[in-house]
Amino acid sequence: MKVLKFGGTSVGSVESLRNVKKIVEGCNEPVVVAVSALGGITDKLLKTASLAMAGDEAYLQSMDEIVSRHHSVVENLISEGSERDALISRIDALFSELNSIYHGVFLIRDLSEKTSNTIVSYGERISSDICSVMIDGAVLHDSREFIKTVRKQGRNLLATETTNELIKAEFAGLGKSEQISLVPGFISRDINSGEVTNLGRGGSDYTASIIAAALDADSLEIWTDVDGFMTADPRIIKTAYTIDSLTYLEAMELCNFGAKVVYPPTIYPACAKNIPILIKNTFRPEVKGTVIS
Ligand code: ASP
Ligand code: MG
Repeated sequence: MKVLKFGGTSVGSVESLRNVKKIVEGCNEPVVVAVSALGGITDKLLKTASLAMAGDEAYLQSMDEIVSRHHSVVENLISEGSERDALISRIDALFSELNSIYHGVFLIRDLSEKTSNTIVSYGERISSDICSVMIDGAVLHDSREFIKTVRKQGRNLLATETTNELIKAEFAGLGKSEQISLVPGFISRDINSGEVTNLGRGGSDYTASIIAAALDADSLEIWTDVDGFMTADPRIIKTAYTIDSLTYLEAMELCNFGAKVVYPPTIYPACAKNIPILIKNTFRPEVKGTVIS
């Protein structure tokens, strides 16, 4: 089996979502698919929260934009019918909760870390539901039930052992009753308090790597909007080119020195289990990409 992760730009438009559908449905082995929020949505959720906290009624307009963006994707992606209606009503129920949370932030002028983490979680909760309806045969799982974090020195760190056990139990049916499991990236839950947490900005890559390691996947594919790791930033260095292969250590160094292709903690779980990481371009799936092994 393998684990695939699709980033924000890959799930950001109807066209790119159609590529995602084709890529996933074309896999001829069991897969777990992790998805980010629709491109730009996490930033927008946070910006809306800041507006509400500042007592600026513009948060309402911003919230409306978030809702219409998702509605428009669903309407253009999924054909009319009862499945689409059910999806829209699930999404609208989540938006109604989110609206109440923003209203609370607006009234109290307070945005705690707990509130902010809850707010951003809606991005992946909604995008994963959309993707699970779009992809034939996909079964949606809730990452908050098996990706657990523990609070240490003011940070939310992965509770590795519990998480690994929970992942094995959650995906026991993969390859048997189920061929495609779909999960929201990024989001998690505190192992003690049960509060919604996350793995940090860009954390969907890490979700995918954690699952790949726990399930001893044959490979981890990170589907993004570039052809792979490059020798330099092509916007600055015109002669930059894509690198075919890297070692885990080289990839870790590139990430830590600012290559934005993958979230740095992603490399570790895959490396520890010797699982190759493939960086692929959703918009040019025919391109070989970069292999990290
Ligand atoms: N949606 C989250 C972010 O924008 C996580 C991710 O995309 O990896 O940071
Ligand atoms: Mg990313």
